[in-house]
Amino acid sequence: MRKMRVRMRRYVAISLLTLALCGGAEGQRRRRGEEASRHPIREVNQVARPDSTRVVAITGATLIDGRGGAAISDSTVIVLGERITAAGPRASVPVPPGADIFDARGLTLLPGLIDAHFHIDGDDTLPALFLSHGITSVRDPGQWIEAYAAVRQKATPLPRLFLTGPHLDSPPPAYPADSIIVRDEEEARLAVSRFAEDGASAIKVYFRLPAGLIRVVTNTAHARGIPVTAHLEIVDATDAIRAGIDGIEHVTSFGTALMPFREAEKYRQSVLADNNARREGRYTAWSTIDLDSPNAKALYKFLAERGTFISPTLAVFERQAGDKDTTDVHVRAFRNMLAFVGRARRAGARVVVGSHSGVPHAERGWAYQRELELLVEAGLTPTEAIVGATLENARFFRVDDRLGSVERGKLADLVLVEGDPLKDISAMRRVRRVMLNGRWVGPSATEKKETK
Ligand SMILES: [Zn+2]
Repeated sequence: MRKMRVRMRRYVAISLLTLALCGGAEGQRRRRGEEASRHPIREVNQVARPDSTRVVAITGATLIDGRGGAAISDSTVIVLGERITAAGPRASVPVPPGADIFDARGLTLLPGLIDAHFHIDGDDTLPALFLSHGITSVRDPGQWIEAYAAVRQKATPLPRLFLTGPHLDSPPPAYPADSIIVRDEEEARLAVSRFAEDGASAIKVYFRLPAGLIRVVTNTAHARGIPVTAHLEIVDATDAIRAGIDGIEHVTSFGTALMPFREAEKYRQSVLADNNARREGRYTAWSTIDLDSPNAKALYKFLAERGTFISPTLAVFERQAGDKDTTDVHVRAFRNMLAFVGRARRAGARVVVGSHSGVPHAERGWAYQRELELLVEAGLTPTEAIVGATLENARFFRVDDRLGSVERGKLADLVLVEGDPLKDISAMRRVRRVMLNGRWVGPSATEKKETK
């Protein structure tokens, strides 16, 4: 027993040393001294850390590591403290003596899911519910950082909370309570700087902000190392991307870029006259959009070349025949939204996953899983949808040095599901265990053992 403890201690010491010396992109970046000039992209909450010498071995699961390669059946993943120290086939990853073994045979192990479009909407129990469904990081694109003050007081574990501050919008804003009105370049710079100082890890521009001010916002945010993402209706997506936007929220943001110019102008003017005109107007427009027009093909190519992140939030727009107040126009429009995402992805665009928190065709807490299913229906392979949910989203957040994949050196945010999501993506609903920062979330045999 003592010998085992000595061996275990030696394993811990060697692992910590190799991680410090060569492991982790985070360490490499720090050594290159890049951090000093850049704004640190961080969650606003302190996620609890486990005992730094505790070793967990998750054995027997099929491993989907988030990088898009083939799954590894019968894998072993070793977690030391908060970090992954090894991941691979069982035969090549020895289990250190004294490790807490979690037998995960029959389960699939994936990186913790990342949600690019989460709204708390005054429901302080929602972040913890999402965490229990495997979502270990969320970003709220357009909410005052103060709106999370109450939930952060709670003792319950929360996903990593990435915040942006409110929408940067022009008058009259669509959501006054969630917006800051920006009227000129100086106000744009001031707003970005203020939210960056408050801990924003991205900036969100809303649809009334004109292209010229978008450019000021992206210049200011990028100088601090912060990405900018947008909800568009009035500014053409290609113009916004040329103005420096890193991400586009909502498939509908591409409407004006896909319509013939004259029709797009008519739509813009209707929304400029009344923000609410977008609600029906976007379905009317999308019901007749030509996804194979030269315009559309140029857009797919442009998105792929620029590497813009697209968070389609399909689930919030889902309208199926038989739904309340749903006509053929809605159904056809939604089919075209799905088809657009499939075509853009096939052309090489980067598609990520955002849930929008509450959506018509999912029970409370399951919007993210519905979005995954719709992305597969849109034509993504399950592997592509999972990469979009994990490593690609980590890149969108600019946290892929520490999150997004099951790799040596990364933080141990993990989810275990029952079944094979590569065969049937709805297996992502059968969440069995969630690990956040090296700690199991919720009660389990392993956790009970810890309290001894
Ligand atoms: Zn939203």
